[in-house]
Parts: sequence; structure tokens; C-alpha cells
Amino acid sequence: MVIDPEVIARWSSAAASTDAQATIARLQDEIADEVRRQRPLCVSSGRCCGFEAHGHRLYLTGLETAWTWARLEQRPTLVDVEASMAAGSCPFLAGGCSVHRVRPPGCRIYFCDRDAAGWQSALAERCHLEIRALHDRLDVPYRYAEWRSLLAGFAALEVAS
Ligand code: SF4
Repeated sequence: MVIDPEVIARWSSAAASTDAQATIARLQDEIADEVRRQRPLCVSSGRCCGFEAHGHRLYLTGLETAWTWARLEQRPTLVDVEASMAAGSCPFLAGGCSVHRVRPPGCRIYFCDRDAAGWQSALAERCHLEIRALHDRLDVPYRYAEWRSLLAGFAALEVAS
């Protein structure tokens, strides 16, 4: 996906704002609390991050991607992201999640445990509405797209710069 560099710059700047940092930190805490309460089954199957094999896709916003991107110790190249698309998985899947500490909210909510479907959907919807409202408050373009396509946009910009 081609993303206008100016839009990426606006997301990146917004992700560094006090509002975004506080909102995302609060959502992460709320997600962690709910996961502790619900105790979904996780057997480390890798289904949550092996998208194509398990018919699952991670969708999130440009602003959330910018938040994670800014915190990566090692950023994937465009080649890495394209290789992960071809492999059907996340570029950060390396045994477990190699960016666990800075993974986006959607990764924190999703568990393949079928019993988790109800509360997960409600929590995902609530978080999404808050992230949507954050875009409005910060006056940045709203784009909701597949994780790797957003990452490809950010990685392409690094190639160009
Ligand atoms: S960022 Fe981590 S948790 Fe999220 S899909 Fe990728 S490997 Fe999985």
C-alpha cells in the first residue's frame, strides 16, 4: 500500500503526543486487566501471528502503527515486510513475538481461544472507538488497514529517505 509520506509524518508526530501516549498506555492497561480477568487459553500455537494459515488478519490504524514503529529497536525493511506477506505471517514473528513490549493493541486483545470471542469483540470495538476518537482529537487522517500493508508504507518511506 502506498501511503503519502506527509500522512505518515502526521501519524508519527501525533503518536509522539502526550494525548496519544496517555491514551494508548491506558488502553494497554485496560486490555491487560481484562485479559487477566478473562484468562483466555494460550498454548503459544502462533495462530494469532500466522495470519494466512489460520484465516486471521490484524487490522489497525496508521496512528497505532506509528506508535509501534517509533518504539522498534530494529525496524523491518520493506523486503522483510514483503517476505512476511509471502510467508503469510507477521514480520515480528520469530518463535514468539519479537516486539512483545511494543506490540499494538490488537495483538494484546486477540486470542485464538474460541471461548474468548465474545469479550474480545466487545473490547476490540471499545478500543477501536477510542483510537478513532484520538485521531479526531489530534486531527490526523484516519486509515484502518491490514498490519503488514501499513508496515510496508512505513518501511518504504525509510527506503526513500
Ligand atoms: S506484532 Fe507480535 S503479537 Fe502482533 S502479530 Fe506480530 S508477532 Fe504477533
